[in-house]
Amino acid sequence: MKKSSNYYMDLEHHYGAHNYHPIPAILSKGEGIYVWDVEGNKYMDFLAAYSAVNQGHCHPRLVKVMQEQCQKLTLTSRAYYNDQLGEWEKYTANLFGYDKMLPMNSGAEADETALKLLRKWAYEVKGIPENEAKIVVCDGNFHGRTITIVSMSSDPSAYGGYGPYTPGFIRIPYNDLDALEEVLKDPLVAGLLIEPIQAEAGVYVPNDGFIHNASLLCKRHNCLLVADEVQTGLGRTGRMLACDHEGVRPDILVLGKAISGGMLPVSCVLADDEIMLTIRPGEHGSTYGGNPLAAVVAVEALKIIEDEDLITNSELLGKIFREEMKHIPSRYIKEVRGKGLLNAIEIDAASPKSAWDLCLELKDRGILAKPTHDYNIRFTPPLVINEAQLREAIEIIKDVLVNI
Ligand code: PLP
Repeated sequence: MKKSSNYYMDLEHHYGAHNYHPIPAILSKGEGIYVWDVEGNKYMDFLAAYSAVNQGHCHPRLVKVMQEQCQKLTLTSRAYYNDQLGEWEKYTANLFGYDKMLPMNSGAEADETALKLLRKWAYEVKGIPENEAKIVVCDGNFHGRTITIVSMSSDPSAYGGYGPYTPGFIRIPYNDLDALEEVLKDPLVAGLLIEPIQAEAGVYVPNDGFIHNASLLCKRHNCLLVADEVQTGLGRTGRMLACDHEGVRPDILVLGKAISGGMLPVSCVLADDEIMLTIRPGEHGSTYGGNPLAAVVAVEALKIIEDEDLITNSELLGKIFREEMKHIPSRYIKEVRGKGLLNAIEIDAASPKSAWDLCLELKDRGILAKPTHDYNIRFTPPLVINEAQLREAIEIIKDVLVNI
């Protein structure tokens, strides 16, 4: 017998931890920008698994390479070599212009890896006395959920109750070059870890020139710039990397999410030898990191972004989306923010409907989106969306924001 939506929700509620508050759509199928729930309703996915599904759900090329590799070899651990990892490392290092790549699984793990590299570089290359290195981060940051990462957070719902916290971080306001310059004067500072656009915080786009000037300040003070492009990277903002908008090459680049097009958890860190080779055999690793299945999927996922010109699509459709949203005569909209297809609408806190209420309304009309931080609705469809599909979604969003 076919099971109802309530059956699946009750099951998760009863047996699963309560660390999420999902939109009540119980999905069982996906293709391109569409997902279907267990009752057969079809939706446009305007979250795309927090930008992990840039290539669209179940992209046939990813399904194909994954199936083929599954039948050959999936996991060796790094106790041995495998015949796919080196190819992935070469492809990615060349594509992004770094000497080396280090593979991990989740975005948080890749950020932790970047923090380790930053500290190792601080002690071995910059010459900061052991255990005294400081790392600069920004208010509103989101880099994942580990204890060290939440130690950097300014969001009580991310860090509250998880102390004691990892020391060694200095937090400054986002988008504030004066504050950055001041802290970089401290010779114990190793570098700056930053999102070029703060996505989780509510899609906050810094002033033009901010990342460029931040990178110059880091260079001037012999500090490294670490860009967390886990969410902003891989075409999401209308460039391969959000840093590309300002011609910035971070010293350490962190990628995740869409590097596997939603097929399995894959992340990686890129850096040049002076930084990467400070970690030696036995000093860092992961059982699944660098597995051959991840390797073939990651290479194919990157090729799809290029072959299907998803970056141009993201830039062009993003402009249309923001232009249309900015002209909606809605009492709910306080601000429209974004770049490429990474966008958010900030809902006026005084309006009679919350971002959550509006997302439920959108769901009933066939669009799945999710609030971030109470007042923002993020709109980040898969980058394979076409103009007709986007315009169809825009009409629905307009109707909800104007007429309810
Ligand atoms: N960094 C950024 C910028 C993110 O947006 C996220 C997740 O949303 C992460 C890191 C953490 O990635 P993961 O959930 O794969 O650990």
